[in-house]
Amino acid sequence: MSASGRDLPFFIAGGGIAGLAAALALAHKGYPSHVLEREDEFGEVGAGIQIGPNAFRMFKVLGLTEAIDATCVYPDALVTMDALSGDLVTRIPLNTNAFRKAFDYPYAVIYRPDLHGALLEACKAEPAVTLETGARVSGFEDTGERVRVHFEGGCTLEGAALIGADGLWSKVREAVIGDGKPHVSGHIAYRAVLPAPEVPEDLRRDTVILWAGPKTHLVHYPLHKSEIFNLVAVFHSDRYEEGWNVFGDVAELQSRFAGQRPQVHAMLDKIESWRMWVLCDREPTKVWHKGRAVLTGDAAHPMLQYLAQGACMAMEDGVCLASKIATAEGDLETAFRAFAASRYLRTGRVQLTARFYGDVYHAAGVAAELRAMMLGSRAPEAAYQGVRWLYAGLDDDGNQVL
Ligand SMILES: Cc1cc2nc3c(=O)[nH]c(=O)nc-3n(C[C@H](O)[C@H](O)[C@H](O)COP(=O)(O)OP(=O)(O)OC[C@H]3O[C@@H](n4cnc5c(N)ncnc54)[C@H](O)[C@@H]3O)c2cc1C
Repeated sequence: MSASGRDLPFFIAGGGIAGLAAALALAHKGYPSHVLEREDEFGEVGAGIQIGPNAFRMFKVLGLTEAIDATCVYPDALVTMDALSGDLVTRIPLNTNAFRKAFDYPYAVIYRPDLHGALLEACKAEPAVTLETGARVSGFEDTGERVRVHFEGGCTLEGAALIGADGLWSKVREAVIGDGKPHVSGHIAYRAVLPAPEVPEDLRRDTVILWAGPKTHLVHYPLHKSEIFNLVAVFHSDRYEEGWNVFGDVAELQSRFAGQRPQVHAMLDKIESWRMWVLCDREPTKVWHKGRAVLTGDAAHPMLQYLAQGACMAMEDGVCLASKIATAEGDLETAFRAFAASRYLRTGRVQLTARFYGDVYHAAGVAAELRAMMLGSRAPEAAYQGVRWLYAGLDDDGNQVL
């Protein structure tokens, strides 16, 4: 008999934000899952993340609102400064009455381990979720009736289906789509966190501040009830081809930001050791599944971080996928097709818009002047209108509101 997901568990490759959100959403719909994480411990990198109102809608569905509220910071505004002139480019108020009226939910910044920890604790409390570490998925076979997952080391397990939540370099994607390596953007991110007392006093604010410079930007904001600050410095470089989570070159960073405002250097100078990410994405695709395997999160739609939505999209994916599985009552092929159909245009729009935002942040010359002219004269309501399609998010059943 063909496995429907109630009898045999869903295997989930990857215990990041996408994998845990999918496991939790499935448990809420009554489906068992088994999360397979290759690392010896579940965890997230010690950096920050911005979460839009659309993610807060998902926290409500997943029962995480209180846990998130206990650790996040609700910034008063998103501020963009010109890193050369020091002029204010734009200030978008957040968490005002007008913001809440527009989107119903708040905007926050959170320490990644706090967000991941909230998901993990909720999964641990669900008897339907099995969590396993040190389990590196190497491939799978689709028998038609079920899926047989292979692990490095030779062991195999059988389940109803395989959810590929294994990130940018996804093994599951290789088998489902087979479209080769991700696209290396030529943009490099250096990340660090700084104890709040070390942040220069004029910058120690509950505000997301982005210093936009030619082919660079620096963003900083508070985390963990404003006890620490997150710093992300991005610059263009074709020197790096690929890599992940290695240490950055401080001299190179300083040279890329040469000539920028003293506030930028005051922040950069505080950090002795940076972690480096070579930023990658992919072209959007509408192929998200093959037989009994389906993709979510960065495995499905890796994006540049300029719209601050990769993790938000991963959580939306989990809620939407579980809802489509429940609606299709065990017909997984139908469920996966409906899931991809309801997600690919939304996530594709985020992938492409993120690239465009990167161009706007890193503009120089006339383009930077245009940025100042067009964004500087914009009223907050116009800024809200521009992201309504994104922040209005999904309803409780994972369908897009707008
Ligand atoms: C600099 C930067 C800033 C960002 N800022 C934001 C932001 O402000 N807001 C936002 O929403 N998003 C942001 N993002 C994007 C966000 O971090 C990602 O989109 C999100 O973490 C993706 O989660 P994921 O679970 O899909 O993938 P991952 O976090 O990559 O998790 C994949 C998991 O799968 C595991 N795994 C991999 N291969 C295997 C295997 N073969 N078998 C078993 N397990 C495996 C990995 O160990 C990992 O735990 C940012 C990204 C970057 C780089």
